[in-house]
Amino acid sequence: MKLYPHLFIDGAWTAPVEPRYIDVIDPTTEEAIASVAMGGAADVDKAVAAARAAFADFSNSTIEERIRLIDRIISSYEKRVDKFSEVIAREAGIPRASRAQVYGPIQHMQVARDLLRSYRFVSRLGHAIVRREPIGVCALISPWNWPIQTKVIKLIYGLAAGCTMVAKPSENSPLSSLLLTEVLDEAGVPKGVFNLVNGSGREVGQAMSSHPGVDMVSFTGSTGAGRVVGATAAATVKRVSLELGGKSANLVLPDADLEKAARWNIQRCFFNTGQSCHAPSRLLVHASQVEQILPFLVDEASQFRLGNPLDTATTMGPTVSARQFETIQHHIQGGIDEGARLICGGVGRPEGLTRGYFVKPTVFAEVDPKMKIATEEIFGPVLAVIPYENQDHAIAIANGSIYGLGGYVFTSNRAQGYEVAKELRAGRISFNGAATDSLAPMGGYKQSGIGRSMGVFGLEEYLETKSVYGFQEEAETLPVIHG
Ligand code: NAD
Repeated sequence: MKLYPHLFIDGAWTAPVEPRYIDVIDPTTEEAIASVAMGGAADVDKAVAAARAAFADFSNSTIEERIRLIDRIISSYEKRVDKFSEVIAREAGIPRASRAQVYGPIQHMQVARDLLRSYRFVSRLGHAIVRREPIGVCALISPWNWPIQTKVIKLIYGLAAGCTMVAKPSENSPLSSLLLTEVLDEAGVPKGVFNLVNGSGREVGQAMSSHPGVDMVSFTGSTGAGRVVGATAAATVKRVSLELGGKSANLVLPDADLEKAARWNIQRCFFNTGQSCHAPSRLLVHASQVEQILPFLVDEASQFRLGNPLDTATTMGPTVSARQFETIQHHIQGGIDEGARLICGGVGRPEGLTRGYFVKPTVFAEVDPKMKIATEEIFGPVLAVIPYENQDHAIAIANGSIYGLGGYVFTSNRAQGYEVAKELRAGRISFNGAATDSLAPMGGYKQSGIGRSMGVFGLEEYLETKSVYGFQEEAETLPVIHG
């Protein structure tokens, strides 16, 4: 078993002040594959001090210098894509076949780099010069379900803005972040600009969120932890960007291609073993069409090949941990107990798999919108099919959630589809399964979050805004914002 004894602070691999280790468990074999040193509050102090010291220079780096830095990070990352896919297969059970997990980050880095070429950091409004300046030291806290992508999006927009940072990955997936740190080190990220402190949410995450030397917290994770981070950060009035949970609905209108909608929904919901924040985990179908759509759902769910995520033929790996496995089992049993109709899947491991945190792809019909399987984020391959009476009823069900992350609509009527998209109270809507774009903002309404990531909206999360008066002549040479 490999030992990882270091954090990364002030440009150097550093042992924690009080070393403690946690085992990283491979969810396929349930065996420990690595032992990783965890930091504590004293390490966060050191990392924040390093990031503060580095801010003076890095915040004044030129746009050209940051573009070249991102280019070097991309090259260094590209050399390791195979290693990344192996590491996340082992630490998080994510199939090697899931190209989006390792190639997606490259695209996000390219978008951030290209944006730097056109973004106006200095412009004019009235007779003021309006400057967009890096916000300062950022605390980046990320989850395990997209372990590299969530981290890359945060750090690349932070670097593009000229910020310095302290990052903490999930305890379940520290290995990919250690590899990512190697990438940044090799690419020549200046000393102190990026620091990595592995550790628990309760200790390291809280030390980061409360630290007076941190100007912003960018957090991706559960709504429960996000509430705590927001409350902690409020004491020092930090900017907080929260990307939280979801319970997204897919509204299939009666004129939709039912088979296409059903198959797409299963793939999108069960992709990544259902561990995706935007998963369409509520499928809203007209009451008269429920029986018609179910066979397509069952057939599509049966197409997944469950097994070792290192095998490229595997399309569904295990869930990340014993805890996550138990939570999902609890929800499936809860759905049965609440009287929903189990269409496929159910409790227990899938047939033929005697170890590993594997879950059966599960579909429930006759789900009442008030049942827990319809209201709580399960974060596993579990779909709730909910009948509706008419379009307004469907929209009311979709919006009747504390979450508002994603939304989906299937119909052959484009105008009607757009009307529904306008009505849904969620940050990202997709019509007939349209692909998303990494230039466009992503984030949640309601308890799915605060702020937006990706593209220009994502960059601006890491910028402060300053109005400067008395320089009218200089202001007049500048482009007008919204001009
Ligand atoms: P989690 O909330 O348990 O942990 C996320 C991160 O927060 C981890 O690094 C953890 O150590 C840290 N953390 C936990 N408690 C903390 C605290 N009190 N203070 C500071 N940090 C703390 O979430 P998870 O199980 O790792 O990830 C799954 C969740 O993430 C799901 O709810 C999912 O919807 C959400 N998610 C959202 C998005 C999005 O873009 N909205 C993207 C990916 C995942």
